Amino acid sequence: MTPSHGPLLHEGKAKRVYATQDSERVAVEFKDDATAFNALKKAQLAGKGELNCQISARLFELLEREGIPTHYIGLQANNWMLVKSVRIVPVEVVVRNIAFGSLCKQMPIEPGTPLDPPLLDLYYKDDAFGDPLLTEARLARLALLSEEQRKELERLAFAVNDSLRRFFASVQLQLVDFKIELGFSADGTLLVADEISPDTCRLWDLQVADAQARILDKDRFRQDLGGVVEAYGEVLKRVQGACPSPRFDG
Ligand code: UDP
Repeated sequence: MTPSHGPLLHEGKAKRVYATQDSERVAVEFKDDATAFNALKKAQLAGKGELNCQISARLFELLEREGIPTHYIGLQANNWMLVKSVRIVPVEVVVRNIAFGSLCKQMPIEPGTPLDPPLLDLYYKDDAFGDPLLTEARLARLALLSEEQRKELERLAFAVNDSLRRFFASVQLQLVDFKIELGFSADGTLLVADEISPDTCRLWDLQVADAQARILDKDRFRQDLGGVVEAYGEVLKRVQGACPSPRFDG
């Protein structure tokens, strides 16, 4: 079912954003497109959009219950979500609990090393530049955020990590790392936006010892391990246990 919506405002790699009758709300359609390595690797994975939408809805509701503001309003259909319109800050905020991925390619640190306290990395969200790692000085030079706003963004990212890490552990999933995006709403509040899904989080099954079999996230696609949609389905199954019925709105 496709909910009624206005014109297409933006199309990204995994989602389309449409206007609605209310200028402060937009409708987000989650696509089945999978991309990795700055879109050099592409595929269609039937059912992925719906799974990511359903997982994100539940995780946004979890964050909201814990007092973390998000753009989420409610589901509109299986792969459609109504959200507050925000001005996205072009910064990808990554929080890492265990060293993996790009971190281990850029630093002498063994994959699997626990990071306590968690490590926060900011990347400039711009595919043309390959999403480079930001320094504090470069962020200031770009003038995307005031010092106060940067502190608030980092505070929110650590709060999201605390909530998600505790929640995932309760359903036997290890939150290795994740990326979030944040945006300013019409009244200037900084909100967690975009999505929170196995496309944007590394999640390992704590019930499985094998280093490949335990992967339940986009690394299955990146590393050609197969079973991507099945893995995302397993994540939804566990998340659903904690949040059975997200609200419908729209
Ligand atoms: N991530 C993402 N989008 C990006 C880059 C990273 O969602 O454009 C997520 C990724 O899935 C992982 C975390 O952010 O959960 C950290 O990714 P990393 O920096 O290790 O990069 P990667 O190894 O994925 O290239």
